[in-house]
Amino acid sequence: MNILVVNCGSSSLKYQLINSETESVLAKGLCERIGIDGSQITYQPAVGEKETTVTPMPTHTQAIQLVLDALVNPKTGVIKSLSEVGAVGHRVVHGGEAFTTSVKIDAKALAAIEECNDLAPLHNPANLIGIRACQELMPGVPMVAVFDTAFHQTMPERAYIYGLPYEYYEKYKVRRYGFHGTSHSYVSKKAAEFLGKPLDSLKTIVCHLGNGSSVCAVDGGKSVDTSMGLTPLEGLVMGTRSGDIDPAIIEFIAKKEGLDIAQIVGVLNKKSGVLGTSGVSSDFRDLESAAGEGHAGAKRALAVFAYRVAKYVGAYAAAMNGVDVIAFTAGVGENDPYMRKEISSYLGYLGITIDDSANAKRGSETVISTHGSKVTVVVIPTNEELMIARETAALV
Ligand code: AMP
Repeated sequence: MNILVVNCGSSSLKYQLINSETESVLAKGLCERIGIDGSQITYQPAVGEKETTVTPMPTHTQAIQLVLDALVNPKTGVIKSLSEVGAVGHRVVHGGEAFTTSVKIDAKALAAIEECNDLAPLHNPANLIGIRACQELMPGVPMVAVFDTAFHQTMPERAYIYGLPYEYYEKYKVRRYGFHGTSHSYVSKKAAEFLGKPLDSLKTIVCHLGNGSSVCAVDGGKSVDTSMGLTPLEGLVMGTRSGDIDPAIIEFIAKKEGLDIAQIVGVLNKKSGVLGTSGVSSDFRDLESAAGEGHAGAKRALAVFAYRVAKYVGAYAAAMNGVDVIAFTAGVGENDPYMRKEISSYLGYLGITIDDSANAKRGSETVISTHGSKVTVVVIPTNEELMIARETAALV
């Protein structure tokens, strides 16, 4: 069955058409600047040239119509008609406590997703717009919602309750949820498969290090703790997000800079992280080249980032009373030998040693620790779209 995987944001939409039997990507692409001047669609069939077309996309429905038109285009399309799309899998950011697994979308599920809007006001409404637009254009095609939070619903209470008045949890569901669940789930499974070990026997720490970053403790295949919280702002220092800070900083800076809470949260989300600490860039390639030229801010940002990741790895080894596998994934985790080595340099106490020549490789599953290393360190490229396609196929 062909599954259209849709990841719909407020002004962009990523898509992939995946054959669920062969797990091959037939076509993929991106609609950008939906509802804004200068919108464009990129379409990349598995065989053939990548095309970019600048065309008006006032609404998400029009964007999805353009995607469907591209897929069935007589010259460059990959299917003859839309009847060849068996199901649609939607990435949904927040499933709150309502969703512990992926679900087939019906009126009840839609209403429950809508109830989570409050918890992810920037993401869930956009995800819902994508679902409704697909329903309008592909009536009768089964749709599935795959949540970033669902994998972490196995966290024990001690890991998800904040040290706040309990009534905030009871009244508003303020608790830690975690994100990147689709990636943590995929990578922990894939690591076990790659190493030929049963997942239920492994204590794995997944380091998803990209523009957004999080660490997850996976014990026997289940998430038992993760670094993001109520929102994706908690935890690691990220591209532009601060990660953990002393909450009192908010009032302190508000007074000093004359900012309100929303403005400060904007700074914490968009102007902090390695961008803020370096004053250079949120991109690790830029940071490493600036650091190579001696830029003090870039060196500082890289050091702060690596140290925070290492602290979380230590915390999660303690949370699981041990660790068998550490898996690096996402843009930085998959492509940045320097950062993997920096992080690993803190982990000698776990008996970890890194094989530098294996660590230099890129692009596929690789063991980067030495034979004698007490913990196996691996690079596992993530594939959230494939995971969404698998979940969708399993449910329809
Ligand atoms: P993601 O959010 O997973 O797409 O990751 C994006 C981030 O990966 C970018 O901001 C880069 O900092 C980082 N990245 C991608 N390629 C490389 C590379 N070759 N070396 C270092 N960092 C990289």
